Amino acid sequence: MKFKELSQYFQRLEETTSRLEMSNILADMLGKATYEDIDKMVYLTLGEILPPFRGIELGVSEKLMTEALSKSSNTKISEVEKLYKLTGDLGEVAYKLVNWEGRDLTVGQVYDEILDIATTRGTKDKVLRIMSLLKGLSNLEAKYITRIIVGRLRLGVGDATLIEALANLVGGKEHKTDIERAYNLCSDLGLVAKTLIQKGLEGIRSFKVQVGYPIRMALAERVTNAEEIVRRLGRCAVEAKYDGFRLQVHKKDKDVEIYSRNLERMTDMFPDVKSAILQHIKFRELVLEGEAITYNEETGEFYPFQITIQRKRKYGVYEYAKEFPLKLFAFDLLYLEGEDFTSKPFIDRRRKLEEILPKNSLILPSEMFITDSVKEIERFFEDAVARGLEGIMAKRLDAPYTAGSRNFNWIKLKRSYKGSLADTIDVVIVGYFYGKGSRAKLGIGALLTALYDPATDTFKTVSKVGSGFTEEEWIKLKEMLDEIKLPHRHARVDSLLEADVWVEPKYVITVNADEITRSPLHTAGRTTEEPGFALRFPRAVGFIRSDKRAEDANTVEEIENMYKMQKRVSVE
Ligand code: ATP
Repeated sequence: MKFKELSQYFQRLEETTSRLEMSNILADMLGKATYEDIDKMVYLTLGEILPPFRGIELGVSEKLMTEALSKSSNTKISEVEKLYKLTGDLGEVAYKLVNWEGRDLTVGQVYDEILDIATTRGTKDKVLRIMSLLKGLSNLEAKYITRIIVGRLRLGVGDATLIEALANLVGGKEHKTDIERAYNLCSDLGLVAKTLIQKGLEGIRSFKVQVGYPIRMALAERVTNAEEIVRRLGRCAVEAKYDGFRLQVHKKDKDVEIYSRNLERMTDMFPDVKSAILQHIKFRELVLEGEAITYNEETGEFYPFQITIQRKRKYGVYEYAKEFPLKLFAFDLLYLEGEDFTSKPFIDRRRKLEEILPKNSLILPSEMFITDSVKEIERFFEDAVARGLEGIMAKRLDAPYTAGSRNFNWIKLKRSYKGSLADTIDVVIVGYFYGKGSRAKLGIGALLTALYDPATDTFKTVSKVGSGFTEEEWIKLKEMLDEIKLPHRHARVDSLLEADVWVEPKYVITVNADEITRSPLHTAGRTTEEPGFALRFPRAVGFIRSDKRAEDANTVEEIENMYKMQKRVSVE
């Protein structure tokens, strides 16, 4: 496909506010893809050049892009900056400045050039490469390439919408489950699309875990007491729940890669884990999961999540790792020496994990025992909380590892806080309000937040959040949100309220609230008979959850379950 045609599709995707239409445009677009093109088209539509877990960054700042635009169009930098101020979008600026025909490049040619820009070191050379690419593009093409290069494409297309379009490509919605399964095992939609074109549905159905491709993580449902654990699971494994950083570790010969819960490449943040794996694990290939948590060497006490996450920094990781050593509590084995373990029962995976873990290293098995006694679980839970842990996890003994899905195969029971819900809720910011009174001077007073609805791949509003942040945090938030603001409501946001400023659903925050109530103002859980769900006295806890993507926010269904649990508790 020519890149010009792809740009025209991008334009149509950008303009629609209907998700259904978005899905039709995508199906039409992917229907024209060849084996060579399809993965590139998928990445570019998502505004990426490779799946995020590859950790490849283009490294082009707005300043650099401004320079490239100025030089390639013979326009003064100050003029380009003026246009940028006016439009707030460098893509629009490129559209205005490019007054040449372009060379009618193919998607493959454009893609290769962008990849080259990413691997080019030195700003001067980067600018030269961007200039030469721009010279080959027409104005519409330049608009989208500019946005991709500065990381702001924002067509509003999510993974789920693309999966649906791929299913339609091979016959219909009923194939969604197979495509989703393959995606959950490799987290690379480009690879899935390529496999689909090359090997058809058969190839998708026989898709297996591959080292170096992170597996989308299995997630836990929550309950409010030990009885419910036993009622749901019977005899089960009960583990300590550590409040750390979830890691998926991949080893192949001398290569080790580490991914976060959010499937970001984190290898450089955990040099100590990497060398422990290389030093102590003698197997050639493996994938395991665990919770990394920093602790005080003197007292042995664990530090809270906020300390562990500080490893997420560019400089001084080694020094930080020395000051705050960590332990990795391994809790699952997903792959070993060519064998995909994800379909094996939990207990078999766990036994093998215990067998292969080295002694005397910073990697140890999570604390675990097997029981069907409510009393024993309660005792273990109380003991865990007293030791400063977050609570416990219970796991179904015969369950496979359900990649990318949240269900009752894993159950979390967390300590609760008096006067508030039994658990915090993760919501995604979809817009903000200017605010009144003292906040008016900051230009931001409250956030409009939403839950994720996987069934429709949309975000449905649940609450305005106006407290829990310090003044500095509000200022920082406004800055971050203004970078992703949109001219209209995002196509995947379902809202009855009109935010003062709409933003791309990107940032997740954790909130605490007193209660889940019903309100006609919100769309989460709203049906023809019932109003939506809302949070009473919501307050933010911490800042942005950088380990979560928008689709990792709590779902409408989860809030509905919490709402039911809460009713049950108050009746008792
Ligand atoms: P979730 O990951 O379920 O979306 P969350 O990020 O808010 O929610 P929690 O509600 O605290 O996290 O619970 C799940 C997380 O607990 C896991 O993702 C994992 O990081 C952590 N965890 C700690 N100990 C264990 C354990 N023994 N087994 C599995 N997960 C554990």
